Amino acid sequence: MQQTEIHAIVRSMQIRHQAFINGEYVDAHSKQTFSVINPANQEHLAEVTRCDQDDVNHAVRAARAAFNSGIWSRADPEFRKSVLLKLAALVRQHADELAVLECLDTGKTISDCIHEIGTDVPNFLQWYAELADKYFGKIPQTGRQSMALITREPVGVAGLVLPWNFPLVMASWKVAPALAVGCSVVVKPAEEAPLTTLRFAELAREAGVPAGVLNVVPGYGHEAGAALGKHPDVDVISFTGSTEVGRLFMKYSGESNLKGIALEMGGKSPFIVLDDACINDELIEHAANSAFWNAGQNCSANMRQIVAKPLVEEFTQAIADRVARYTVGDPLNLETNIGCMISHTHHARVNKYIELGKAEGAIKLPELHQPAQGNFINPTIFANVTGEMTIAKDEIFGPVLGIMTVNSIESAIALAKDTDYGLHATLFTQDIDRALHVARELPCGTISINGFTEGDIKTPFGGYKQSGSLSRDNGTEAIEQYLQTKTIWICTKSVGS
Ligand code: NAD
Repeated sequence: MQQTEIHAIVRSMQIRHQAFINGEYVDAHSKQTFSVINPANQEHLAEVTRCDQDDVNHAVRAARAAFNSGIWSRADPEFRKSVLLKLAALVRQHADELAVLECLDTGKTISDCIHEIGTDVPNFLQWYAELADKYFGKIPQTGRQSMALITREPVGVAGLVLPWNFPLVMASWKVAPALAVGCSVVVKPAEEAPLTTLRFAELAREAGVPAGVLNVVPGYGHEAGAALGKHPDVDVISFTGSTEVGRLFMKYSGESNLKGIALEMGGKSPFIVLDDACINDELIEHAANSAFWNAGQNCSANMRQIVAKPLVEEFTQAIADRVARYTVGDPLNLETNIGCMISHTHHARVNKYIELGKAEGAIKLPELHQPAQGNFINPTIFANVTGEMTIAKDEIFGPVLGIMTVNSIESAIALAKDTDYGLHATLFTQDIDRALHVARELPCGTISINGFTEGDIKTPFGGYKQSGSLSRDNGTEAIEQYLQTKTIWICTKSVGS
């Protein structure tokens, strides 16, 4: 997409702002709305339907009725596959419009939005569409007096609660596997960034997803989110967001119908450089990207960069030089590398951590950019960070990187482990034995060796410790969240001799 096309799309943008329930766009019963603002320039984008318990009840009733009717849940898997493939094609067809909408709604860079929506989202949909007719039950060995069938069934109504940092990517991570196996879903997008998910619902309808199978209830967490979490007729919640809110969903489940809870939450992931690594452009590119991708608003951001003492000076200088070349500013500009914080409140929170880092004695490297305005925060690097500092412990969720120094591989492992989180880690070393040793020692869901990556759609993604529950998004593992296991035991009689 060219810059002129981006601005043309902005000018002609039609924004879907109502809830999507039972195949239709509807207002809240209360008629209440909330304002959605472009965080990059404070422009008002839409008055979005503010769903509360009544609307969540309406959506869950629709989802349950669709599920019980069997129109989707008991349809041939080839049918679900063909509809989801069509949905993937429609997202590709409308990718430019959706990417611009995502950019306006979140302040993410347009180049990231183009990649996420033009490539990642349709690929996820397509991958799970293809899986719809390729998962199987099992038949264990029994004697001749019986036959046992271990079968898989869709769990029913799934509530999908989403964060704001990758809105349509997160929606597709959950909607695609849930729909592929036959569930009906009620999606609760983050109040900061609901717009692409609302538009996606329209494309799902056009692709042929039957009414009631996919519902979207925008609104606040303590209203729509809590109503979904506590609803007695929701069978499972798949949640991505903060650890604090993840805990609440466990509580909601205990206080209601003991629905299944799948949690993908925060992190404070390490990026470890052992003393045999070579500090070159490639390593530095990975280090900078692991911290500042999405302006640091990323659950797997590698914000504790733990570097062997002999290399730390060279590493610090090289990453500062790289980061200085980032362009911070207008998210709609194709040249921009770092967009803005999602909101004024979040901006203030991240700035507080920068002040705290200075007060705690970490050394803030000199400013690499012109002073930032509005909700923008320049990439910030602290050297001499130690494990006790708050900036080394809390998930800041902004562009604030801490560099820590270690004297040995064992102290690198100990420091990397010294966290309540366990989502991700990156390790640079040239020694395969050391790589495997560290990979086996670290309690985290993904460890990436000699390059920063979260993996891809084929590999499961989720966290150890307080970063997640046992569930995983992505890979064939993701469908487990949305399936029940049923044993059918058949007692047989011998026939003949
Ligand atoms: P959040 O926890 O504030 O909100 C997530 C969702 O929960 C939103 O839809 C919100 O409306 C809802 N919610 C908020 N309060 C609620 C309540 N009281 N009851 C019910 N629902 C409620 O998280 P966020 O700020 O949107 O996203 C940032 C967090 O998400 C970070 O911690 C980040 O690490 C995490 N995250 C994790 C992953 C992963 O895969 N592990 C991916 C992306 C983001």
